[in-house]
Amino acid sequence: MPYEQYETVIGLETHVELATKTKLFCGCSTEFGGKPNSHTCPVCTGMPGSLPVLNRQALKYAIAVGLATHCEITRHSKFDRKNYFYPDNPQNYQISQLYLPICRNGWVEISTPSGKKKIGIHEIHMEEDAGKLIHDEWTDSSLVDYNRSGVPLIEIVSEPDMRSGEEVTAYLEKLRLILSYLGASDCKLEEGSMRADVNISVRPAGSSLFGTRCEMKNINSFKAIERCIRGEAERQIERIEEDKKEVVQETRRWDDNKESSKAMRSKEDAKDYRYFPDPDLVPIDVSDELLAEIKEEQPEFQEEKAVRYKEEYGLPDGDIRVLTSDKRLAEIFEETAKLSGLPKKASNWLIVETQQLMKEKNEEPKDLHFSPEHLAVLIKMADENKVSSGAARQIFNAVYENDCDPEAYAKEKGLLIVHDEGALRAAAEKAIDSNPKAAADYRAGKEKAIGALVGFVMKELHGKADPGQAGQLLAGLLKN
Ligand code: ADP
Ligand code: MG
Ligand code: ZN
Repeated sequence: MPYEQYETVIGLETHVELATKTKLFCGCSTEFGGKPNSHTCPVCTGMPGSLPVLNRQALKYAIAVGLATHCEITRHSKFDRKNYFYPDNPQNYQISQLYLPICRNGWVEISTPSGKKKIGIHEIHMEEDAGKLIHDEWTDSSLVDYNRSGVPLIEIVSEPDMRSGEEVTAYLEKLRLILSYLGASDCKLEEGSMRADVNISVRPAGSSLFGTRCEMKNINSFKAIERCIRGEAERQIERIEEDKKEVVQETRRWDDNKESSKAMRSKEDAKDYRYFPDPDLVPIDVSDELLAEIKEEQPEFQEEKAVRYKEEYGLPDGDIRVLTSDKRLAEIFEETAKLSGLPKKASNWLIVETQQLMKEKNEEPKDLHFSPEHLAVLIKMADENKVSSGAARQIFNAVYENDCDPEAYAKEKGLLIVHDEGALRAAAEKAIDSNPKAAADYRAGKEKAIGALVGFVMKELHGKADPGQAGQLLAGLLKN
């Protein structure tokens, strides 16, 4: 069968580090980095006799993510031990949720060039992260850092509903948007706070049966995910078509430099881990009050914002997409629009100049530190012709950089437009005297000739005149 007649089926297991200040079962800091093993205690290093206590904020984040992804919240859930030995796992078991995950049966909607599509969420469960092994080839030894041990994670398990790298990217972007709107995680694929295991299988297009899947690990960028999906689908099809063999269910490690994968281990089952309910932790009962509190705290998400922006501000779709792509950017916009009363202009400054400066400085919306008040003042100054558009951009650079007061800055740098009729008239008269040809041309009916005279006035006043006003004044003078 030709390769194009195969369809790729993809399901994701996405681990996300939650943005709590402390770990899942102890009070140690979750801060990234730090001296190795400095954020540890008897609980997160698995000392006998130590007892875990659930972090309330981690539970709240997990439920908030579940609500945002249309999941059912499991009102009575619990933790289970997943038993395995590995040096980065000091207890010899990981505390996770197998039987009663906190959230189940949800979905998110993705948008790709081929349209909108719902991707099912099988479940979201809470679990603890492992430590980090550092293999030192120089001394031929391995070291372990338990700072990450016990950091709260949620694992978001999708249904096998995706069919291409494009859909997977859209799905992860969607999760990232939801999580960042919630402030539940910073979702950095590159730094490991969001990690996706990608399950891939192939089947003849149109078939209703699933093929055998492989789970791909070690993928840490969006580009790598797309390459990995293409590479693995090809490997599986080749195996079926050329080697006439079946795909073996296994876990494989993707090497993005070589663009190929290697088998790591055969697929292990739940029974291999001898899961059992963790006897050190009480079951979790989510009260009506807690659930109501979390619902109350849910932010307005991107889709709702987009609809409101259209109705309330009448902005073009392109503007709305950029402004709502980040909660902080959206907040700055809303505040600036309110203070200036000029939403479209506020949008322009944020999607043109701000984006450009962010790109130049390699910054993200969370790095923005100018106040909406100052941007609003600047917008009004430009709107009321107090500064030229070039000067406004110059002032904005300063506002972006130091959040300075645009009025004081414009005064200090002499950027305010001269509205003084006397000065303008003097400059206009001088323009006519010094450019007799242009003046004569204009009088003879060549309207364009006024441009040279306006240019002269602008130059005379060091760019601080309003060209429209100068033009009117010149036209009046030339009539006489
Ligand atoms: P396990 O618990 O053994 O890991 P699951 O049924 O929970 O297996 O599935 C794990 C992940 O694999 C899920 O994200 C799911 O969507 C995905 N998946 C399951 N079957 C397939 C398949 N045939 N092809 C691709 N992905 C699959
Ligand atoms: Mg699994
Ligand atoms: Zn600890």
